[in-house]
Amino acid sequence: MNNRLRLAIQKSGRLSDDTIDLLGACGIHISRPDRKLRALSEQFNLEILFLRDDDIPGYVADGVADAGIVGENVIFEKNKEVETMERLGFAKCRLSIALPNSFPYSSAADLNNLHIATSYPGLLERFFKEKGVSASIHEISGSVEIAPGIGLADGICDIVSSGSTLISNGLREVEVVLQSEAVLIASPTISADKRSRLDRLRFRLQSVLKAKQHRYILMNVPNESLSEVIQILPGMKAPTVMPLATEGWSSVHSVIPENTFWDVIEKLKAAGAEGMLVIPIEKMVL
Ligand code: ATP
Ligand code: ZN
Repeated sequence: MNNRLRLAIQKSGRLSDDTIDLLGACGIHISRPDRKLRALSEQFNLEILFLRDDDIPGYVADGVADAGIVGENVIFEKNKEVETMERLGFAKCRLSIALPNSFPYSSAADLNNLHIATSYPGLLERFFKEKGVSASIHEISGSVEIAPGIGLADGICDIVSSGSTLISNGLREVEVVLQSEAVLIASPTISADKRSRLDRLRFRLQSVLKAKQHRYILMNVPNESLSEVIQILPGMKAPTVMPLATEGWSSVHSVIPENTFWDVIEKLKAAGAEGMLVIPIEKMVL
């Protein structure tokens, strides 16, 4: 019996590089000779399947793959039974409805009777149902953003990240249907043995993702400012404080969340901290 854990990832596209980098940071190095559709990773007794992202939810739901890495937008569009184990923090985007700039829009009721072009008919239909909108859906597989310009549809429902593609096509985002990012999913049919290995992979992913969200910070602080500086630091535990060779000064080390980083730095500086060093963290195991 094949006891390898099978993980499905995107063959080539917007998810591929980040997925391979993230697995690499977890100690799983994938070599893919001749762009084969399968690869083995000895480190984790893992078999990688390289697929189109659209096929990943179905393969995982059916148990052909034990787990997968894919965008939530695709999972919800395919409406497959899979378990989301971990949000992975990349491929962040949203599925939105956009209309020509000139269209006077105030609420979802304005979508009634419009023709909307999309590659996400399932999600769009559910959105219309939820909002009580009666509009027609025109399914197309690519270059959705040009549909209104060439008279194929009144508006579109498509993936947006910065919004620059919409702007360059004279479109305005009017409704967000779904927020999405890449996630690790597991099959409902996964065996107990494989599930425990998948839990180990998840633990490694969490350590890497947590590390990305934090910075290690070192600074010199005059002793009379120590208590104020310590209060500012939101570290996991109390910071490390060590005496400097220079009388009356200490070195303070701590870990701070990336998202509060600049606020904290400014406060530390105002409190008298000097010579601050900020260092990325590779893994964080709590
Ligand atoms: P495939 O050939 O595998 O079917 P695709 O063309 O359908 O690929 P990609 O364009 O590679 O898909 O996008 C893969 C996923 O990346 C999307 O399903 C979505 O989750 C995410 N994504 C798409 N566009 C963006 C974007 N502009 N910014 C961030 N994430 C995005
Ligand atoms: Zn696709």
